[in-house]
Amino acid sequence: MGGKIAILGDIHSNLEALETVLEDCRREGVDEYLCTGDVVGYNACPHECLEIIRSLGCPVVKGNHDHYIASRASLEDFNPYAAAVVRWTRDQLSGEELEYLHNLPFSVVTKGITLVHSTMDRPERFGYVFDIQQAETNFSNQITPVCFHGHTHCPMIYERQFSGVGMIEPQAFTITAGRKYFINVGSVGQPRDGDPRAAYVIYDIRAKTLDFRRIEYDIESAQRRILAAGLPEHLAERLALGQ
Ligand code: ZN
Repeated sequence: MGGKIAILGDIHSNLEALETVLEDCRREGVDEYLCTGDVVGYNACPHECLEIIRSLGCPVVKGNHDHYIASRASLEDFNPYAAAVVRWTRDQLSGEELEYLHNLPFSVVTKGITLVHSTMDRPERFGYVFDIQQAETNFSNQITPVCFHGHTHCPMIYERQFSGVGMIEPQAFTITAGRKYFINVGSVGQPRDGDPRAAYVIYDIRAKTLDFRRIEYDIESAQRRILAAGLPEHLAERLALGQ
């Protein structure tokens, strides 16, 4: 039995979303986890979310928020809302937790699957993949048939076959042997595709199927925590909109 892998990413310190997603994983009989990064940032529970993800004992790659929170690097590439939360989050985490984030790898290959936060084309630059051209550049640097990523917070399937690269809207999907897949698993803690429900993917490694999950969670509770922490109100509002 077994063979169901949950791929979670862009959790962004959203404890309500993470706990609800993990309950769904248990109901679905998930046996393993992979994390595409950005465990922290934007929401108000960085410590709790880090503790939960670390307790899963799974491979985790470094997201841009993890990277900037764990360093003293300049935040000029960040929008002001994101930068405010980066500074706030730095103050919430222990030295040991910041060290953990700092030491995360930019990409991992495990069981024939690649994990990266953004793209295999210079993952340390955190480029965004929104179209076929950007996906093609990733595929040139992707060694395994299947690679999971996040970063845009919008789930999507990019498929490369002989005739070229195609974009496939998230849906129940079966992987075809001989092709390559670059799969965006969406965001657990701050979806931006217009659907506010938490997003993640279950990959059945034997049946080669992808299940794009959308899970309702207690958004109002996550919003109250953002406001109570003194974080920008805009970050609470966008959770309800899925933007
Ligand atoms: Zn993110």
